Amino acid sequence: MGPDEDDVSPSLDACDACGRALELTGDGDGALLAVVADSSANHVSEPQRDGQRMVLACSRECMGTICEKLRRRPFISDEMWAGKIVRAVREHHSEGRSLRELEAVTGLEAWQAEAGMRWIKRGWGPFGPADGPGGSADGSST
Ligand SMILES: [Zn+2]
Repeated sequence: MGPDEDDVSPSLDACDACGRALELTGDGDGALLAVVADSSANHVSEPQRDGQRMVLACSRECMGTICEKLRRRPFISDEMWAGKIVRAVREHHSEGRSLRELEAVTGLEAWQAEAGMRWIKRGWGPFGPADGPGGSADGSST
């Protein structure tokens, strides 16, 4: 038997635009990282990082594509607050939480928590938590 080498690729990441695998090693061939504002991005554990998305691209071209896409997507505070609520609820899914408790846990003001709840009830608005079919054929205005 050969040495028990891990055949799993060592933390390869993919370009967020074209999906090309990127090597994040020191001599990587120019993977680009950027942090962009995105109200649908909620950090797993650090609330102060909510609303910021770390993006990874293989080239400046792909980075441009990603930024262009995110620029067309409005930053919606309600959505970010909704994400905070969902995260807080998930952490205690078996117990349930009152709105007041959620405010304490998420650090949101009452009106923010309510706006977030409304956002969730509305079914996450036109964008949704995940990438849906997004069939809104907007007349390409220049
Ligand atoms: Zn790419």
